[in-house]
Formats: sequence, C-alpha cells, structure tokens
Amino acid sequence: MSNPNHQAKIVTRFAPSPTGFLHIGGARTALFCYYFARRHGGNFLLRIEDTDKARSSAEATGAILDGMDWLGLKHDGEIVYQSQNADRHRAAAENLIKTGHAYLCYLTPEEQAAERELSREQGRAFRSKWRDGGTPPKDAPFVVRFRVPDGETVVDDLVQGRVKWNNQDFDDLILLRADASPVYMLAVVVDDHDMGVTHVVRGDDHLVNAGRQKLIYQALGWDVPAFAHVPLIFGPDGKKLSKRHGALGVDAYRDMGYLPAGLRNYLTRLGWSHGDMEVFDDDEITALFELSDINKAPARLDFDKMAFINGEHMHMADTDTLLLYGKKFFEDKNGGPLNAAQMARLTAALPHLKTRAKTLIELADKAFFVTRQRPIEITAKAQKPFKNDAEMRLRDLLLVLKDIHKDAWDDHSILEQLNQYIAAQDIGFGKIGAPLRVCLTGGAPSPDLSLVLELLGRNEALGRIEDCLKTYFTD
Ligand code: GLU
Repeated sequence: MSNPNHQAKIVTRFAPSPTGFLHIGGARTALFCYYFARRHGGNFLLRIEDTDKARSSAEATGAILDGMDWLGLKHDGEIVYQSQNADRHRAAAENLIKTGHAYLCYLTPEEQAAERELSREQGRAFRSKWRDGGTPPKDAPFVVRFRVPDGETVVDDLVQGRVKWNNQDFDDLILLRADASPVYMLAVVVDDHDMGVTHVVRGDDHLVNAGRQKLIYQALGWDVPAFAHVPLIFGPDGKKLSKRHGALGVDAYRDMGYLPAGLRNYLTRLGWSHGDMEVFDDDEITALFELSDINKAPARLDFDKMAFINGEHMHMADTDTLLLYGKKFFEDKNGGPLNAAQMARLTAALPHLKTRAKTLIELADKAFFVTRQRPIEITAKAQKPFKNDAEMRLRDLLLVLKDIHKDAWDDHSILEQLNQYIAAQDIGFGKIGAPLRVCLTGGAPSPDLSLVLELLGRNEALGRIEDCLKTYFTD
C-alpha cells in the first residue's frame, strides 16, 4: 500500500539540505507541500537535513529560514534538525539487522572497489559477499548494509504515475557508515516516519530514491507515505535551470522588488494549473490546490509572466503591505529613512501609483517625486523647459493654484483650473506642462500633472513652485 489512510490528517514536509540559499525550485516544492497541507487541514513541517557536516552550515540554514519567512511559508511545529536524530536512525538500523533486512559488511576499501567494478561490468547492482554471513575478521571496521530483497518495487506516484523497478537494480546500500553515522537514505525514512509524514512531495531528481526508500519502509514494517515527484524547473530556453539563466535564490527575487504574494503565485502556477487562471491569492490557491493537477512535464521560467503576475499582486496589495516590503526600495531612492512628512505623502500616493508598477523597484522609481525634499535639486538638463515665457507661466499658475481651496485640492478640480487657464490664454497644455512638471518633480517619473499636484498636497506643491521660481528665475 503506498497510499496512506485517507482519514488520516495530511502531513507534508519540506526537507532542504542547508548548503546554500533557498533555491526557487525548492521554494516551489515547499509551496506545493504548504498549499496541499492547507487545502486538507493538515500540517506542513520543516526538516533541515544537516547530516552532511562538510556541506551544511548555520548560515545556509539561516538563509533558508529567512527566505521562507519572507515568502510567507509558515511551517507548523518545531523545526526538525536531522543531525539530532542520529540515535533514532541507528536504532532503526539495529532493528533491520535483527530482522535480517540488514547485515554487517566487512569489505575492505579494495574489495569494495573491486565489487563496484565487477557489478558495473556485469550490469548488476552492488552486492557484498557478507550478505550471506561468514566469520567476521577480528576488530575489522564494518558498515551496515541493506539487504535488498528479490522482486520488484512499485510506486504509484501522484505526479509521475506508476513507476516500477526490479530490485536487482538496487544496490545493497550502506545504512550506517563505519563510524556508525547514518546515511541520507535511512535518515529520511526514519524522520518521515517519526514526523508522521503522509505525503512526500519533492523534486523528481529523488524519484529513484522513492523505490529504495519504499523497501526500507517495508523492511521496518512501517506505512509507506504517498509520493509526489515534481518535475524540476527549466530555464526559458528549455534547459535545466542554472546560474546562466539568472537569479536562482528567492532572496534575489526579493531584491528585484517582487512581492512575496506575487512570487508565491508565480512559483505555484509554474507547473500547476487550474483551468486558465493565472492570478490567485492564497485563499484561492488553498481552495483549489491538488497534487494531481501538477504537470508531469518540466515547467519553464518565464520572466515576463512573473512580472505580469507580480504586477497584479502590486495592484491588489494594500498600502501597509507595499510600505512593509517596499521600505528598503523607498529608502534607497531617498538615500535614507523617510521623515514623517515624506511618509505621509508616500502613503497617500501609493494607492494611485501601485497600478503603474510591476515591481517594488518600479514603484519606488515612480513614487520618488512624492518623497523628494524641498528645495528639489533640478539638474541643468532637467531645466531645459525653463525658457521663453516659462517664468511668466509659472507665476500665473502659482496664482491659479493658490486660488484652489485645500478642501478642493483634487485631481479633477485642479485639472479644471489648469484647463480654464490655458483656454483663457489661448495656449496649449504643453506650454505649462513641461515647466510645471519640472518644478514639481525635478524630472522624476510621474503621472498626469493634475494627479501629481493632488498627490503632493497643496502646501508641498505650492512650495515647490515657489522654490523653483526663487532658485532658477531670479538673477
Ligand atoms: N534534503 C534533500 C534535498 O535537499 C531532500 C530530500 C527529500 O525531500 O526527501 O534534496
């Protein structure tokens, strides 16, 4: 039986090895585990597979936890560190020895290399002569090997379908090394069992491990979890994802100004679909997510689609969310923390600007004009429209705008006044638009002028025009 009791609470886990950052492929697997558990009211657990001391590091664990935290991947329960369970792994190995499913193997390194060579030549799996017993050499080191049974192993994978192996193709793999340290293949089975994992969802590079692990579960007399092996992510060119394709870590997408909700949506949608829906919030994904809807074919990264989906989430995000995740970008643009007045202007402007940006970096660019501090520095290049009758126009406009009461200071009323002025003067909007925009924004990207005026607020807008007249038009 490879399918657990359907009544049981669903338990999934993410089991990264802490050797680097949180890879987007890993993050996507974790999202699948997370939404599947949520969908069924189950638990999503986290296990750090830190048994390989040489490759694991506390920094890498920290980076993975940070990445998960930013992405909003909340795990249930305490984090399990695999290295702390070595005694349990050894106990399981002892148990397997007792029941005849494992044996002590005293092959010397030379004998082991010879058998490896021979088995390769003969096109069969590794077998040790010690699987049939014998008198152990005195005080010789040994490893514990799994005694692979005859027959075949079948896994009904929830994504890949039925997969069959002839057990003759599985090596008598090492369970405990000569120093009694457990290997991954044993540790993962014991930990998944002890954590009550019902569904093992992971990359399809582990598919063949599922066959080997199933044999270990059976030998231990334990229920075998359901397996779902998810195809890896490919680059836009259809080749295995690598550095060449650009950013691989979740942190890099954070630094590019993606929202966690946007990246969650994009990564989940990558290889999983529900009809032709592209944009989902968490509740929608949670209500719809099934492992059976994961595509068997590898998904390709598509940066345009990622930006599109993120843009939709920027649009849906509330101001607090934009301020929280955008803080770093707004501050970078500003060259330091924002003061209260800048924050107030930014907060008021974000609902108008968020629909125009696909990432937080774009949003910070578009919002820069709002947070600029008076007097705004205007470069020589940006001063170009300050010629001919610009000064006269700006003085007129200052009066026109001053006439608008602060309670009527909105996009619509402002536009009406500006239009009345150009009609009365019999000039085009361009005559006033260019110099006014430079005074108000210093040339930074900005929306329609009347909206710029509204977003700055009456005092700030009038102040900026006065500054400009004072600085650039008096001899
Ligand atoms: N630690 C393994 C990895 O990072 C995952 C093992 C598993 O999910 O079973 O590839």
